[in-house]
Order: sequence, then structure tokens, then C-alpha cells
Amino acid sequence: MTADVPNPIRLALVGIGKIARSQHLPAIDRVGRLELAAMVSTGAVDDDVLFESLSDLVASGLAIDGVSFATPPVGRFELAVEALAAGWHVMLEKPPTATVSELEELRRVAGEKGRTVFAAWHSREAAGVGAARLWLADRRILGGEVFWHENVREFHPGQDWIFAPGGLGVFDPAINALSILTEILPCSLFVEEASLVFPANRHAPIRSRGAFATSQEGARIAFDLDFESEGTARWDIAIQTDRGVLELRNGGADLYIEGVKQAVARTAEYEALYERFVGLVERGESDVDGRPLQLVADIFLTGGREACEPFAF
Ligand code: NAP
Repeated sequence: MTADVPNPIRLALVGIGKIARSQHLPAIDRVGRLELAAMVSTGAVDDDVLFESLSDLVASGLAIDGVSFATPPVGRFELAVEALAAGWHVMLEKPPTATVSELEELRRVAGEKGRTVFAAWHSREAAGVGAARLWLADRRILGGEVFWHENVREFHPGQDWIFAPGGLGVFDPAINALSILTEILPCSLFVEEASLVFPANRHAPIRSRGAFATSQEGARIAFDLDFESEGTARWDIAIQTDRGVLELRNGGADLYIEGVKQAVARTAEYEALYERFVGLVERGESDVDGRPLQLVADIFLTGGREACEPFAF
């Protein structure tokens, strides 16, 4: 540990909504090196939330070492710049920023300030993902499929920001699949074709289909993404290789080889993320992998568009 890293690391959590309450707060509590020093949230402020804006926190003079952002992605860049300017380390929920260029700027500013920025991809911490990456590392990829279907009304009730400009629509969950793919595949991905379906009254897609070409000749990864799916949610990836078929089901939690479920150690995704953040701060490093966001941007750049019926929660 470098001499100037305090112990514990005093953390502010910004954006006390669904994921902050269900995952971030319990994980921060369980990671020994962290102390929750402040909570910041707009809107429905309850007794627990100490500050209504990041600027209020900065102005308060409270001793803070790092800030974790669980706000919606639009506007997170400005908040992260403000936190870095205050001299604080930064951890970002996925998707880390609304645009690829914002993420690059955060990387630059963090380097200039000598602070950590961590673009967290929680699905990469799912139990089967690390083992999948190792299994695929020396295999030839022949093809694959991503099937990411869930119902936005069940998982994001009333979250209008998800269909606003920059909210990503179906790519809010599906970027998790892209974070897994870019982690496990021993090759690069490029958008080959894509279609995007936008509700007539919304600014972000509710469905998308298409395929990625890869740097392994002939290998193509198809994707089928649906945010208004009836029935049980399914978050599955299958990869065919020259020596067998790998499947990650249940968002990366379950690993199957040739249809046989493999034993993998259960992991707590958000605890693993915060442990990783602490390690980065201790080593004076950043981890800013923008590839999943770049693929989404490329799908938006090249995808054909069609409209569907208006969407209401
Ligand atoms: P959410 O329930 O809408 O929570 C976001 C919170 O941030 C709200 O309380 C919001 O307050 C607050 N906020 C917005 N702007 C703010 C600002 N400038 N300063 C302080 N607080 C601010 O959204 P969520 O579902 O937790 O998602 C947040 C992020 O986590 C997204 O990037 C999402 O992709 C990611 N994520 C979500 C899930 C999930 O299952 N929900 C899972 C993994 C990751 P208001 O109520 O006033 O807007």
C-alpha cells in the first residue's frame, strides 16, 4: 500500500437508488477497507442521505477519499470531473459514462491528478466469467450467440431515464453481456450488422438484433436483445470453439461446458468490485475499459432503425 492511502478509505456513494440500496450499500459495509462517510442523492431524500448534491458535499469540507457513482449514466461525467477536481478517487457504475469520449477524458483527468478511476463492470465478477475466460484463452472461436431478454417493467419499474437520450434502453442490461464477451473472448469484436427498434414515444431502443464479426476469421457472434420480454428473464451466452461449446447462463453466474454444469465458486459481484477499487487505489492505478460502451456506440452508429408502438411502464 502506498503511504498516502488512508485506512479506511472514506467513501461517498452518490445516487441512492435501486442498485445503490440493493448492492452498493451492503457491499461497502462488507469490504473492510472502506468506510461509508457520506451519501449524496437528489430527489427523494430521506434521513440517511446526508447531501442533496455532490457540490454540497465538496463545499462541506468533509474528509473524503473516494466517490462511487450509482447515478444514471447521463450527467455522471460532470460529477466524476467534479470529484476528481476535489482530489477524490472515482468508481463508476456501468455504463461508466454516456459517451466514449467522456470516458477517455476521465482517464486523462485521473492521470493528470494522480487519482484512480475505475469503470466497474459488475457482470465480469459473476461466478462463471473468470473460468470461462481461462477455458477460452487457447481455443479457436468458431461462433456464438448472446440472448439477453428481460422485462424492463419488472427490473426497472418507472425508470424513465432508461428510455431518455443516453439511457441506452435495452443496452442498459445488454451492455453487461458485452462486458462479459469482451472479457472472455480471446479476439476482438466489430459490429457486422444491427437493427434497433425504438418505441415511437421514446429515445432509446427496446429491442436489438445483429451480429459481431471477430478478429478470428469466420467467427461471428449473434445477439438477440429484448427489454420487453414476456416470461422468465434469460441472460445467456454460448460460444462454439474448435474444442467444445461453452455456455454462460444466468448473467455469467453459471458455466456449462458441453452442456455440463461446472463447479465455480459463488461470488458477490459488488464486493468483488469494491475490493478491486481498493486495490487500484492502493496501487495508484486506474482501470478504464471502454470496449463494451464502444460496441454499443458502434451499434447505434451503424444499426438500422425502426419504430414500434409507444411504450408505457
Ligand atoms: P435509479 O433507481 O434511478 O437510481 C439512481 C439514483 O441517482 C436516484 O436516486 C436519483 O435520484 C439519483 N441521482 C440522479 N442524478 C443525481 C445527481 N446528479 N446527484 C445525486 N444523485 C442523483 O437507477 P438504478 O437502477 O439504481 O441505476 C443506476 C445505475 O446503476 C445505472 O447506470 C444502471 O445501469 C446501473 N445498474 C442498475 C442495476 C439495476 O438492476 N437497477 C443493476 C446494475 C447496474 P432521483 O430519484 O432524484 O432521480
